[in-house]
Amino acid sequence: MYTTEEQALIRLDIFHWLEMTRDQHAGITKESLLNDYHFLGKHIPLLDRYKGIHNPQLFSETLSVVSTLNSKYEDNETLEGMILYDYQATGDGYGNTKLRLAHQRHTPIVYLLETSKGFYWPYVNVIVLGDDVVTKKFVLDFRNTDDSDRVFDESINSFPVSEIQKKYALQQTKRRVHQPAFRSRVIKAYSEQCAICRLQHTNLLDAAHILPDSHELGRPVVSNGLALCKIHHAAYDKKIIGITPDYKVQVSSPILKEIDGPMLKHGIQEMHGVALHLPQAKSDYPNPGFLEIQYASFLETV
Ligand SMILES: [Zn+2]
Repeated sequence: MYTTEEQALIRLDIFHWLEMTRDQHAGITKESLLNDYHFLGKHIPLLDRYKGIHNPQLFSETLSVVSTLNSKYEDNETLEGMILYDYQATGDGYGNTKLRLAHQRHTPIVYLLETSKGFYWPYVNVIVLGDDVVTKKFVLDFRNTDDSDRVFDESINSFPVSEIQKKYALQQTKRRVHQPAFRSRVIKAYSEQCAICRLQHTNLLDAAHILPDSHELGRPVVSNGLALCKIHHAAYDKKIIGITPDYKVQVSSPILKEIDGPMLKHGIQEMHGVALHLPQAKSDYPNPGFLEIQYASFLETV
């Protein structure tokens, strides 16, 4: 067993490794989680092949928990954007003991969400906020999972005050929970390519919403998404580019007449009329009804 300081150091290194690796391919394969992580030459698997709660021997507290596509554990999401994670029901309950310790010691863990078969999005720095012995569930808190506002202190207890702040925090949490999984699913569905220009640099790709978050139908599902590179995402949102319900790219007519540098010429104007690069699975195709709503508003803007 490592000392507490060593454990903290390794845990942080694992978080960094997971963030780096997941961003390269919008997620991580099971094999990679099992085989690819090493600390000073020592191999450490990052999930348990057989159990939902992973407790490597060298850690005093749980390292990761898993939510699989066909998980027998029923994970529930609360209104506050927290996840309720069921106690491990089988075996000696050892997994629960170490997860309980993570709760008591505020030790952050990893939540591995299976976004497609054998493919995971890791959320790092998840806090075990509660332990409900009555319903036999742990409360997992995702508010610190962003890189931008990572905190390891007690600020998780300082709840926001006003109603507006509460609503905002709730929105942010929901976004934090749903956005990465949505991005991972969409980019995977499009084989890690921009649907317009086929750019294959995953770290330059976004999962664009067809109908925005704010729209009542704007849910984070693949059929409401498009894998787009940064420039085409922005061009789609700004209505410089439209997509017809039969999957053709259209560039707005004023933009087609403009004269500018190579980005406008090759990156935008030459995309006019090309067929959208579609996902492999038909069930992942963009919903034509959603495209139609957005295309109508593109035509209005032109
Ligand atoms: Zn593109």
